[in-house]
Amino acid sequence: MTTARDRLLGWIDGERERQVDLLRSLTRIDTCTPPGDTTAAAELVSRFLAGEGISWRTEAPRPEMPNLVSPFAGRGEGRHLVLNGHLDVFPVGDRSAWSRDPLSGEVADGRVHGRGTVDMKCGTTALLFVHAYLHRLRSDLAGRVTLTVVSDEETGGRWGSGWLTGRCGDEVLGDCVLNTEPSGLGTVRFGEKSMLWLRFTVEGPGGHSAYPHLGASANRRAAHLVRDLEAIESRAPAEPSVVRETLDRPEVRAAIEASLGAGAAGVMRRVSMNVGTVRGGAAINMLPAKCVLDVDLRLPVGISRAEARAEAVSIAERHPGVRCEELDTGGIEASWSDPGHEMVGHLVRNARCGPGGATPQPVVGLGGTDTRFWRARGVPAFVHGCSPAGMGAADESVGIEEFRRVLRTHALAAFDYLRA
Ligand SMILES: [Zn+2]
Repeated sequence: MTTARDRLLGWIDGERERQVDLLRSLTRIDTCTPPGDTTAAAELVSRFLAGEGISWRTEAPRPEMPNLVSPFAGRGEGRHLVLNGHLDVFPVGDRSAWSRDPLSGEVADGRVHGRGTVDMKCGTTALLFVHAYLHRLRSDLAGRVTLTVVSDEETGGRWGSGWLTGRCGDEVLGDCVLNTEPSGLGTVRFGEKSMLWLRFTVEGPGGHSAYPHLGASANRRAAHLVRDLEAIESRAPAEPSVVRETLDRPEVRAAIEASLGAGAAGVMRRVSMNVGTVRGGAAINMLPAKCVLDVDLRLPVGISRAEARAEAVSIAERHPGVRCEELDTGGIEASWSDPGHEMVGHLVRNARCGPGGATPQPVVGLGGTDTRFWRARGVPAFVHGCSPAGMGAADESVGIEEFRRVLRTHALAAFDYLRA
């Protein structure tokens, strides 16, 4: 007798061509940000859902940035699983650096090529199939599933996942969220750092270069300020014990470094600071009267936005003529879900089995994903996806078997969660 799980595995293995075709079609649609127009991509997703007999509705606070919400119910009471992926992608950048058309969706060397294949059209395509397969098995599942395919992820999420989680309530919040952003197959992200953006405006009297005794340089004051701000990077986080114990494990540290590069295990647990832009000065022979620094601070779990901001302000106050203001990033703290959550177990167990399986380790993401909007509302959310290598770079491409492994792991984990 064929079980529901057998049928699921049959579709995962048997529909390879269809899975790859959808990823290629989605890659060929331009959803680059700016302008981040995802209407044509959302139409492709709608056609796929319609073909599977699944209903959906569109939530579009910005007409060119539609979000699709597609719920279905299983048989009887149970938990509500939410699947989340985005359609918008990074810009192409320097076209001459690409060896193929950036939107070709070409298959070569076992990979699908094109902008956004890694971040995150392969992940979103995988979730579309997960949703379709679970829908076919709905009479064997308890609870319900809601797929959210969103826009505006690359530009802050206000009109995408931020909008849905803020406006649609229980319809999209659920009991647990699966997201397929590129994490690397060796990790499951149970949390992520927070982004605090500060603008420092440094002013001085200015004057003639040759007469520094009569004036002052705002650029030089800014340089001193930057040197002092670096102190924030050595602030010790008050990590919750479960986070500390998880990230202290040697196999977790090794997975972090393997997936995100040497040094990542340290950066994950401290503040990192980037002075993204410096604007100051009018001429080489004038003392600048004004310098504006835009500073991006990434805060680990255990350091609040308020404490980091307070330290930055107090450092700024020690310097003459400095004003500090916060730029809007949505204001969400570094977020984490329980790394011992049942869903982590389902992901790890299913990622491990079958050919090419590996054991993903629970880690905290350095960059931001839309999962923060759910964690901020108390919903556990986990990220597992393909390798982030090549993301946002020229010649971006994703391995077809890696894409299919992500699809398989999420399909089986979701199935186990809704059967439990
Ligand atoms: Zn992404």
